[in-house]
Amino acid sequence: MPSDRPWAPFFAYDPARRGQVEFADAVYWAAKEGRSVVINAPSGFGKTAACLAALLPFVKGGRRLIWAARTHREAERVIEELKLINAKRSAGVNAVAVMGRSEMCPLIPPSEYGPDEAAFYCREVRATCKYYKHFLSFSAPAEWCMTGVEVHKYALSREACPYFVQRALTRLSQVVALSYQLALQGLHTYFKEVELANAITVFDEVHNLPQLMREAGSEQLTAKSVEQALREAKGKPVLTGFLEGLLTILEGYGEERVEDVASFTAKLKSLSPLPLVELINVMRFEGEVVRKALMLQGKRPRSSLHRVASFLKLVAEGLKGYALVASKKGVKLIRLELPRPQCAFIGFSGTADPALAEELYAEYANLDSIAARPSARVFVLTDVSTTFEERSGDMYKRYVEWLKLMPERTGIFTASFDVLKGLLEAGVEKELTPTFVEREGMTSRENEALIKKFKEQGGYYLGVCGGRASEGVDYPQGLMKAVYIVGVPFEEPSPSLNALINYYRWERYFGDERKAKVTAYLMPALRKAAQAAGRPFRSPEDKGVVVLGDKRFTALRRYLPAWLRSFKTVSYEERGTLTKAVEETLNVKRLTSP
Ligand code: SF4
Repeated sequence: MPSDRPWAPFFAYDPARRGQVEFADAVYWAAKEGRSVVINAPSGFGKTAACLAALLPFVKGGRRLIWAARTHREAERVIEELKLINAKRSAGVNAVAVMGRSEMCPLIPPSEYGPDEAAFYCREVRATCKYYKHFLSFSAPAEWCMTGVEVHKYALSREACPYFVQRALTRLSQVVALSYQLALQGLHTYFKEVELANAITVFDEVHNLPQLMREAGSEQLTAKSVEQALREAKGKPVLTGFLEGLLTILEGYGEERVEDVASFTAKLKSLSPLPLVELINVMRFEGEVVRKALMLQGKRPRSSLHRVASFLKLVAEGLKGYALVASKKGVKLIRLELPRPQCAFIGFSGTADPALAEELYAEYANLDSIAARPSARVFVLTDVSTTFEERSGDMYKRYVEWLKLMPERTGIFTASFDVLKGLLEAGVEKELTPTFVEREGMTSRENEALIKKFKEQGGYYLGVCGGRASEGVDYPQGLMKAVYIVGVPFEEPSPSLNALINYYRWERYFGDERKAKVTAYLMPALRKAAQAAGRPFRSPEDKGVVVLGDKRFTALRRYLPAWLRSFKTVSYEERGTLTKAVEETLNVKRLTSP
């Protein structure tokens, strides 16, 4: 390890793996110069360790490092890595991985309450809560580097509230790791504006950031919630009159369409003699009454009245950079504009690209060549497609014929659940056994159990691009040997998508429609496909076969990551090329003769 680098004393591995020094240098200099940068770099060479080492000189200089990862589990890995650095390099860095209140509070049934409900519950019982009382006399240990689970245990061993102990430690920590979800919704709970401005933020797997920022900033209200609110408001004519009027407005929308926020607000105002803001306050108050009553019965404190009031408050505030999409099923406030980052950030991913960096107001650095890319044989099938016009029973049967050529331990990732349904109806489960099939609306626990079964038993995993199994889950040492992508995972056309493309066209790219479509439509789809395609390759030694099952991939070659760009095109008549590659690369026999 070169000692002339300020970050070298914090690097815990000797020798460094190929690519780690270059990666740490890039991160160090970006942070030093206060630049926000999105880095494209392959997986599997130890980015976390290199990035942490690169940023610890700044941490020791007084800046806080906030590390956002896709999941809480991944945030905990940062803490494990820091423990190693503390142990091997005597870095003495205090750090914590943050969990949400509903996971930390010992009085709330695990995973049942949403963040707002957990906060409500806590507000109501805190004055008499024994854990809070003990927390008030809590003092931080001399040093700490703890995962959320460890903080939980530590606090409970002192009978103190784990949530408030974690909050106190977070305020004092030099490194704070947390999931994207918490980072996007909750950083202001812990830090003041000025503290955030002085922090360095890392976004691991940064390709997720635009979509997650939009999801975190968007809200929706369904007609069902309004109906439920109506039931809760029974006997309160001011509220019932307004809610009935709101349902009539929704019914009038019919199919989904973009609605002008000002005209929607004007319609709302016409529904009540009370000023809208006052009406919303009354609704919130009555919602709180419902919540308290439920709590006293030992039930989850949720109220549709409260939910409707919170949504309407956002609408009444007249948010900028949002689209209001309305239909008879409900209204959605969709965030279009991504907030500019409050401080310089470092983002990295194996599927980052210049469009992503531009979207996030950052520089782009391509470090794709610093580490070896895994050896992948890539094919594009030229006689299949899931374009809307070509979707048919015959087309899905053709897909299944192709799928019969794939070896065991193939991940089959479709463009959407609709396409997955098409494959199932074409009999894919009869041809490939065993199969493990994702269902729409599956809980994350159910999905994890399904992935576990596939890992243990082999066979074929059928899921969607952008789903849990196709991003963020590793399949090391041949647990997944091949990937077959069915279709290009474009977002289905919708008023929300149009609003987003129009936003980019007119607000970011001065009327350039092509560029707007590339950013809002094309690249998100290709990043999903590339993430799924990369599942078998978690280290440079991994080998595998990737099949891009849609002829449109040939025309999209220049937008694909470099490692997927060198594909071979094959038609069904030339299928022997694919089966031979499967045999040679994976050393397995094909299932069906070409
Ligand atoms: S103070 Fe802590 S233990 Fe008590 S209700 Fe709130 S979060 Fe739960």
